[in-house]
Amino acid sequence: MRLNRRGFLVLSAQLAAVPLLVRCGTNEDPLPVVETPTDTPTSAPTETATVEPTSSLADLYDPDLHQLASKEYALPDGYVPPNLQPIPGNWLMGGQSGSLRAGVLEALEPMMNDAWEDDGVDLRIRSAYRSYDEQITTFQYWVDTVGEEQARRESAVPGHSEHQLGTTMDFADPYNGWELLESFADSPSGIWLAEHAWEYGFALSYPEGMEATTGYIYEPWHHRYIGIEAAAAWRDSGLTLIEFLEQLHEEAGA
Ligand SMILES: [Zn+2]
Repeated sequence: MRLNRRGFLVLSAQLAAVPLLVRCGTNEDPLPVVETPTDTPTSAPTETATVEPTSSLADLYDPDLHQLASKEYALPDGYVPPNLQPIPGNWLMGGQSGSLRAGVLEALEPMMNDAWEDDGVDLRIRSAYRSYDEQITTFQYWVDTVGEEQARRESAVPGHSEHQLGTTMDFADPYNGWELLESFADSPSGIWLAEHAWEYGFALSYPEGMEATTGYIYEPWHHRYIGIEAAAAWRDSGLTLIEFLEQLHEEAGA
């Protein structure tokens, strides 16, 4: 066990014993939509929070946060996440608006504050929740702009986007003109997020060089909230996020 610089316990020892599972490779077992009365994160990401050791990945599984959404996995028809709330204007890139689940906003607050107060990094969100209908527009924009073959490498078809979960956001940085380009990884925001986002429960869905597994190009700006304990386990696993979530589902019998 070790502590990161913000005092979170890192779960390497417990999780090293978890066997890797092969990808199940099917889309025949859609997740139930779990309605919760509130949208509080499973672990409050405060400066003093510590992560209790867990004995298995199954204990980390949260059906409300760990839904599978990828080219392979569609969300349930008509899925709309609960408790969507507007993102504060000073967290957004200029001229943008957007919403996220209330619990994700709670998890984001200390991350945005720490990035600025500890390291002078002014994180800004470019886009966040997108409804099914909005994803139709987004995907068509990319088809019209770069052609369908390339669009499928960069954008999800409606019903398959993590943005529809209300837990996922794209950041942008003035370093590279606020554009969603690989050069975001070299921006102050990209460098900070790569090092610290997991400490607050956020996972990078589409890492570099993993398009064959994730289905998407490297997207250093695209982060999904999965909870602090799960994000620590994901990071230690070395798996892509979709592989890790598949493993969580397997371990939990979901
Ligand atoms: Zn995105």
